[in-house]
Amino acid sequence: MNQTSPYSNLLTPLDLGFTTLANRVLMGSMHTGLEEEKNGFDKLAAFYETRAKGGVGMIVTGGISPNLRGRLAPLGSELSKFWHVNKHKKITSAVHKYDTKICVQLLHAGRYAYHPFSVSSSKVKSAINPFTPAEMSVRQIKGTIKDFAYSTKLAQKAGYDGVEIMGSEGYLLNQFSCVRVNKRTDEWGGSIENRMRFAVETVKAVREKVGKEFIIIFRLSMLDLVEGGNSWEDVVTMAKAIEAAGATLINTGIGWHEARVPTISTSVPRAAFTWITERMKKEVSIPLITTNRINTPEVAESVLANGHADMVSMARPFLADPEFVQKAAADQSDQINTCIGCNQACLDHVFKQKRASCLVNPVACYETELTFEKAAKSKKIAVVGAGPAGLAFSVYAAQRGHNVTLFDKASEIGGQFNFAKQVPGKEEFYETLRYFNVQLKKLDISVNLSTEVNTEKLKSDGFDEVVLATGIVPRTLDIKGFEHPKVKSYLNVLRDKEEIGHKVAIIGAGGIGFDIACYLAEEKSLTTDAEAWMKNWGVDKTYQGAGALFSKESAAAKANNSELEESHKNEREIYLLQRKTTKVGAGLGKTTGWIHRATLNKHNVKMIPGVTYKEVNDDGLLISINGEDKLLEVDHVIICAGQQPQRALYQGLIDAQASVHLIGGASVAAELDAKRAIRQAAELASTI
Ligand code: FAD
Ligand code: NAP
Ligand code: SF4
Repeated sequence: MNQTSPYSNLLTPLDLGFTTLANRVLMGSMHTGLEEEKNGFDKLAAFYETRAKGGVGMIVTGGISPNLRGRLAPLGSELSKFWHVNKHKKITSAVHKYDTKICVQLLHAGRYAYHPFSVSSSKVKSAINPFTPAEMSVRQIKGTIKDFAYSTKLAQKAGYDGVEIMGSEGYLLNQFSCVRVNKRTDEWGGSIENRMRFAVETVKAVREKVGKEFIIIFRLSMLDLVEGGNSWEDVVTMAKAIEAAGATLINTGIGWHEARVPTISTSVPRAAFTWITERMKKEVSIPLITTNRINTPEVAESVLANGHADMVSMARPFLADPEFVQKAAADQSDQINTCIGCNQACLDHVFKQKRASCLVNPVACYETELTFEKAAKSKKIAVVGAGPAGLAFSVYAAQRGHNVTLFDKASEIGGQFNFAKQVPGKEEFYETLRYFNVQLKKLDISVNLSTEVNTEKLKSDGFDEVVLATGIVPRTLDIKGFEHPKVKSYLNVLRDKEEIGHKVAIIGAGGIGFDIACYLAEEKSLTTDAEAWMKNWGVDKTYQGAGALFSKESAAAKANNSELEESHKNEREIYLLQRKTTKVGAGLGKTTGWIHRATLNKHNVKMIPGVTYKEVNDDGLLISINGEDKLLEVDHVIICAGQQPQRALYQGLIDAQASVHLIGGASVAAELDAKRAIRQAAELASTI
C-alpha cells in the first residue's frame, strides 16, 4: 500500500491469519429485494460483481434465514437446503473474479418476522410488527442452532468466504440477549450468561461445522438504544464470549429497529457511533468493524486513524457508488457519488417490499437492466434546467458520447436541491451538487448558467434533441387574502431569505412543509454537533443506563431534559397545517417520517390535520376545524401546498417540430421527488 495515500489506513490489507482482506472496507449487509425475485440471483450476482470490481475488500450479503420460521417475510430467502447452493454460487463466482471476499449474512428475524409463524425468546410482540411470536421451546432453540450451522456449511459449499451471524438490530439473537424480550426462567433467560447462550452456542456450532479457515463475523448489538436493552457490562461479557466461541471479527450493531433514536438517517452526524466500537477495542483482541453514517473515504480514514476500529463497514454508500474504493485509491474522492442518507430508494423500498435502488444512482440493483452503452450516433442535445433531472440526464447522456449543452437561468446548478441543502439535517445534499459539478467538468459538458433560454434560441442552435428539465412552480391557492403581504412561499424563505416573524402558520404538511417547519424551528443544525445530537435524542454516552439511554427519572435524565427545555424556550410558535384528516406526516418516508415528526414535536410545532383555510388578514390566518372557526394570530403564512409543472417552452418547441422530451417536475409535478426525477432522467439518457 502506498503510504502517501490520504487513505493509507483504509487501504491497508487486514490479515485474518488464514486469509487476508485487500483493504479495511466492508460493504455491509443490505437486503435488496432481488433475493426473492424471479431470476433475482442473476441480477444479484451482477450487483455484487460491480461492487467487487470497484475494489471493496469484503462484502456481506443481505440477510438470509437459516430456516423457515426465521424468514423476514412469508416468501423471504432461506439457505437451508442443498438445492439452494447453486444459486448462491452465481454470486460467489462473480465476486471472486476480483480480490474481494464475500460472506453471507445469516439472519433469523425472530419477532420481526412478518408472518404468523414467528418465534422469539418469549411471547412478547414488537410495536412495529402486527404478529405475536410464539415462545421457542428448548428443542426449537437447539434445532435453530443446528440450522445456523447447517446453513453455514451450505454457504461454504456455495463458495462463500464466511458468514455474518446477525446478533443485533433487535433480531432473534438480540431478542434472546436482552430482557426487553427475554422473560425466560430456564437456562436461556435470566443472567447475561443465560441470555447470550443462544448466540454463543450458535458461534460455537458454526465454527465446529466449518473448521478454522472460514470467516465468522458476529454482528453484536453494542448499543441497543431501547428500554430493556443491555448494560455495557453485559455487552462486554457477550463480546468476550463470542470471541472465545470462535468468531473471526465482531461487527458493530447500533439500535433495534424499534428504537426511537435515529441511527442511519441523513440527520445523524457522520460516524456518530464509532465511539462505542472504540470502547470495545479495549475489551477484546479480535478485529472490530465499526459502522453507521460513514459515507466518505475521509470520514472512514479518520475513524481508523483515530483507532476507533480495525475496519469500516459502509452499506448504502455502495449503492450510491460501487467504485467508492477504487476512486479513493486513485485519490479521486471528489468523484464519488455520495450517499446522502435519505433512505428514499433503499430502505423505504425494502420496507414496502419493493426492490431497493438508490436516489443518486438509479442503476443500483438494476445493473443488467439500466445500462449506458456508447450511442450509435453522437447527438447534439440541449438540456434546459440543471436541477437533479437535468444534471443526471446530462451526465448519463454525455457518458454515452452525446454532445450535451446544459442551460439554467439560475446562477448555480442544483435546482431545488439548493433549497433542500439549507434545511438543518440535510447538509448531505451539498455532496450531490459537488458530485455533479465534478462530473460536468470531467465530461466536458457545456454549462450555461444565468441563461434563461427560449424557443427561438433552442431552434436556431440546431439541436437534435431538446430535454426540458425546467422543474416546477409552487402552487397558488384560491384563499381569500392570498395576496396579503403576510403570505409567503417556501421560496421566499429559502431562496430569498426574507425575514420571517415569530409566529408562523405553514399551509401544507408534505415534505417541504416539514422541512420549512424544521428550518424555522431549529436555529442550529445538530447534524454537525454530535455531542448535542446525542443529548437531543437521549443517548447517554457514559452508558449508565440499559441500552445506553438515560434511565428515566435518573438525575442525568432530568438534567438533560431541563437543558433541552431551556434551549427550546425562545423558539418560534409554528403551526403546520393540512386539509386531510389523517395523521400529519403520514405520507413521509416509511423509515424517516417518525424522525421528522419527533423533531417537530421536540420544537413544540403544532401539527394540525383536518383544516379548512378561510382567510388571511391583518390579524392572521382564519381556519376552521370540525366546523369551528379559529384565528391563528400569526405574522406570516407560508405556502407549501405542492407544485405544478413548469413547461412554458414545451408547446413552442412542439410547434417548431423539435424533438422534445420532458423529465422531472416539468413532466409530472404530483408526487415528484429527486428519486423520480433522477431515475426518469437516467432512463431517457439510456435510450436517446
Ligand atoms: P428542479 O430541481 O426544480 O430544477 C429545475 C431547474 O430548471 C431550475 O434550476 C430552474 O432554474 C431551471 N429552469 C426553469 N426554467 C428555465 C428556463 N426557461 N431556462 C433555464 N433554466 C430554467 N426531494 C427528495 O427526493 N428528497 C428530499 O429530501 C427533498 N427535499 C426537498 C426540500 C426542499 C426544501 C425542496 C424545495 C425540495 C425538496 N425535494 C426533495 C424535491 C426535489 O428537490 C425535487 O423533486 C427535484 O429538485 C426536482 O428536480 P427537477 O430537476 O425536476 O427540477
Ligand atoms: P407534497 O408532499 O405533495 O405536499 C403538499 C401539501 O400541500 C400536502 O400536505 C397537501 O395536503 C397540501 N395541499 C395540496 N394542495 C393544496 C391546496 N390546493 N390547498 C391547500 N393545501 C394543499 O408536496 P411538497 O411538500 O411540495 O413536496 C414536493 C415533493 O418534494 C414531494 O413530492 C416530496 O416527495 C419531495 N420532498 C421530499 C422530502 C423528503 O424528505 N423525502 C422533503 C421535501 C420534499 P392537504 O391536501 O391535506 O392539505
Ligand atoms: Fe443513500 Fe439515499 Fe441512495 Fe439510500 S437512496 S443509498 S440513503 S443516497
